[in-house]
Amino acid sequence: MSELAIGLAEGAEEGPCSLCGQQVSFPAGLRVMTSNKGSVCRNCAKQHVPTLVALMDLASTAERIGKIVQHNHWLPLKSHLEMAQAAERYASALTPTCREAS
Ligand SMILES: [Zn+2]
Repeated sequence: MSELAIGLAEGAEEGPCSLCGQQVSFPAGLRVMTSNKGSVCRNCAKQHVPTLVALMDLASTAERIGKIVQHNHWLPLKSHLEMAQAAERYASALTPTCREAS
């Protein structure tokens, strides 16, 4: 299996997952990709690189909450909780090796 990493796709696309071959709609933005830029579905990504999926979810939550702050200049309690939950999911997805390095 090739190396998997987070990549940034400027546009949405439909196509087969590079790992399982299932037809998937890939939205624009962050996604897990193979070293030859093939897109990987969320199920395969969660199976092979759960830490990267948790990191993308954390980034997505931060982006969405950042937009709320830009418009409201304050952050609702619900958003604080969503950010805390995303951070907790990321922290729990880290492998013991990742935790020791930080
Ligand atoms: Zn797949």
